[in-house]
Amino acid sequence: MSRTETNSAETTRIIGATLEFHGAAGEVTGSCTLVRTPKARIVIDFGMFQGSPADEARNAVAPEIDFALVDAVVVTHAHIDHCGRLAMLPNLGFRGKIYATTATHELLGRVLRSSAKLQRARFYERASGSAPWGRALMPGEVAGPAPEFPPAQRLFDTPDVRDTMDKVEGVPLDREVKIAPHVALTFRNAGHTPGAASAELSIGVGADRRVLYFTGDLGADREGHVSLLAAPHRPANADVIVVESTNGERQRGQLPDPDETLAEIVAEAARKRLKVLAPVFALGRAQLLVHRLARLHAKGLLHGLNVYVDSPMAVYGIESLYKHPEYLAPDLRDSVRAGGAPLWFPELHYVLSKRESMAIDRMVHGGIILAGSGFMDAGPMLRHLEESLDREDCMVLLGGYQPEDGFGKRMQRGADRAQFTGGKVVPIRASTSRVDGLSGHAYQDDLVRWFSRLDHKPARVILNHGTDAARATLAGRLSNELGLACTAPKPLEELSV
Ligand SMILES: [Zn+2]
Repeated sequence: MSRTETNSAETTRIIGATLEFHGAAGEVTGSCTLVRTPKARIVIDFGMFQGSPADEARNAVAPEIDFALVDAVVVTHAHIDHCGRLAMLPNLGFRGKIYATTATHELLGRVLRSSAKLQRARFYERASGSAPWGRALMPGEVAGPAPEFPPAQRLFDTPDVRDTMDKVEGVPLDREVKIAPHVALTFRNAGHTPGAASAELSIGVGADRRVLYFTGDLGADREGHVSLLAAPHRPANADVIVVESTNGERQRGQLPDPDETLAEIVAEAARKRLKVLAPVFALGRAQLLVHRLARLHAKGLLHGLNVYVDSPMAVYGIESLYKHPEYLAPDLRDSVRAGGAPLWFPELHYVLSKRESMAIDRMVHGGIILAGSGFMDAGPMLRHLEESLDREDCMVLLGGYQPEDGFGKRMQRGADRAQFTGGKVVPIRASTSRVDGLSGHAYQDDLVRWFSRLDHKPARVILNHGTDAARATLAGRLSNELGLACTAPKPLEELSV
């Protein structure tokens, strides 16, 4: 055998890769994909399953991956459904490195420590029967007993977080780093949340190199529209794209301009001195809303209304954007680089402790409180709701997705009472309002447009992180309109690419 033939055979062995989907295949949480080449094993994301108690229970079951053999773990962003189980790695025998963007690296320690703290609190609260909960009641509906929570999972604790963070290496966007034999990683801007990136894996060498592109959660390219974050990067030469499809079934259509809707809500709140409760997720909607409120301030339309960001994590998210302006839309990036603070305004207040949070509960009349959780089922938002729902001068500002039959959806449908921990029932006198068009996820049209604008058509598109219906709808459009070969893998399915 000649020298050339030997090299060629070796290269062929190097570039073949298999993908295994250990989460988020046909669902929107628990992201975890194993990439196997003959020379390396890489895991992309290790997130928690979220939703029902049954989903929660799945977190304690480690995926069938021999982590002792995994060279590297790549984390796309600091949302718990993508990074939430990382702190289990030290106890699963993982000895390699964890790669995240520099910005995500900075957020990750806080997210995992806060998760450990929450797991401890839940463990004691559920064991003692004092777990906080809330339920909006429809007219005529009888208040029921407390929900039955299963015993809380203790997946990891603070020392595990410390051991995990010792393994994390922060990498700037667009810088290639070698992470395993014949595998290089480049993070690309995903436009989803502060620090969020897509993972571009380059496998093999020379002309036989193949590029696998994992979008992670992807924001929308809202060209011509106001945007907080930069448009998601479009890969130049991806052979295989693993794309998220959370909103694969949803058409964006003509969304109303959030600035206009918000201006009307703010004007009403200022006129009636309303206490506005805005349920948000700390990384994502919180920053999107603060950006829009800063714009209202700049236009003289905030009417002196105070805005309280009642979430340390949301505050870190805002600060992260100042520190890493490369994630911001061009106009905001330029402003920050010139020393500006485009997300700041005099009425903006950070609430960084439970004590401060309890104090604003009592003092706010004519102000907006941004607090978690975005689904109104946990966190300080539950306490704010319990405190204020019986007040006519309270308004709940909803936005984005709310779970079917959850607190927010029920309020929109006319719930007239709410029940909280200990069985306390309060009448709902607060009003509701909605602001749309502030999603961190690309919609179906956005995803189709993103693919249509790629200079290099991928040989294969693999859809994950979406329900089967969302994946089927999106796959239909991508193959019919753009001629792309699409696959929607089942859980644990192995795909050779
Ligand atoms: Zn996300």
